[in-house]
Amino acid sequence: MSIRAIDKSSVHKLTSGQVVIDLSTAVKELVENSLDAHATNIEVKFKHYGVESFEVADNGDGIDQENFEGIALKHHTSKLRTFSDLSCVATYGFRGEALSSLCGVSSSVQITTCTAGTSPCATRLEYDTHGRIGSSSKIAGTKGTSVLVTKLFDGRLPVRRIDFVKNFKREFAKCISLLQAYGVIKVGVRIVVSNVLSSGKKTVLFATKGNSSVGDNIVNIFGTKAQTDLLPMSLELNIPRKQSMYLPDTDPGETVIKVVGFISQPGPGLGRNAADRQLVYVNNRPCNLPSIIKRFNEGYRSFNITQYPFVVADFEVPFDSVDVNVSPDKRTIFLHDEATVLECLRERLSEFLMKCCHSIPTQRSA
Ligand code: ADP
Ligand code: MG
Repeated sequence: MSIRAIDKSSVHKLTSGQVVIDLSTAVKELVENSLDAHATNIEVKFKHYGVESFEVADNGDGIDQENFEGIALKHHTSKLRTFSDLSCVATYGFRGEALSSLCGVSSSVQITTCTAGTSPCATRLEYDTHGRIGSSSKIAGTKGTSVLVTKLFDGRLPVRRIDFVKNFKREFAKCISLLQAYGVIKVGVRIVVSNVLSSGKKTVLFATKGNSSVGDNIVNIFGTKAQTDLLPMSLELNIPRKQSMYLPDTDPGETVIKVVGFISQPGPGLGRNAADRQLVYVNNRPCNLPSIIKRFNEGYRSFNITQYPFVVADFEVPFDSVDVNVSPDKRTIFLHDEATVLECLRERLSEFLMKCCHSIPTQRSA
């Protein structure tokens, strides 16, 4: 067989399917866009558990008219210009792929947006599968953006659509867990998540209130009881930097990583029976770091052998010690010198739990 370039439209489908893997990643991308646009109010509305549609509506900055053409084109972003900007990128998005991918893998993407300058006049835009504007109309609206995605994967990625429709409850639950992770960590942002069934019945899955603390977000999402047995946690990991072979006589110094959040109190009956509610973040970004979760579980087990801890842990890592550009969905994160970070975490966690254990006067029995 001769070597040929894959046609553009197939490349679009191939790469879009890597960004929008499932319902969770699709919705997460939209919520991240709202957060990047400085929204303080975000509403996520599912129709029939996301199988029909999902919509993320925010009161953020809105999109300027000059950007209508570009936002849903592959690698078009307002957040990153060159690769080197990645070393200091503070936004959730930077690859300019989410909207373009959603156009490539769903039946329709409709964006309604309004900036402070154009309010009360908003623009409603329909994008085609290639991310080009199909239609545009003016409607009344207030500052912010709403993105409505209909029939994810339908007609585009048939295998994924079948799997999604078959397992929609599982996919929906996964998506809600991920949204909860954002709801917990984002202070000053009200996030309301609801689902409407075909019958018209509406259920609110959770609602945060724009609280100023993570603790209050936890109460809004998991209930008052959830916070009762949680301890505020603040650890400092001092990671020695490697000696440079070019500067053998200079002190390479250390990287300081702060771990801030909450953990279940270390006593019998104070943890959870399942390994759930374990939320790990790097610089406020929810991410998959199973090795870190494992360390928390191991550390906690020394004090409570039958249960797992409820953990909310945000790792405040200097930008030069973390790489978020590992997978297109940005859920996998590469931590510089992870082995040392894990070892240091083990030590600090053990000291912290030991101290807490001694200061708990009476332990509740299991
Ligand atoms: P990225 O977030 O990596 O830039 P996206 O495809 O998710 O890529 O979004 C493309 C661009 O569309 C963003 O850079 C931003 O300028 C604009 N955008 C998307 N969603 C919103 C929103 N909710 N509010 C304001 N601007 C948005
Ligand atoms: Mg984005």
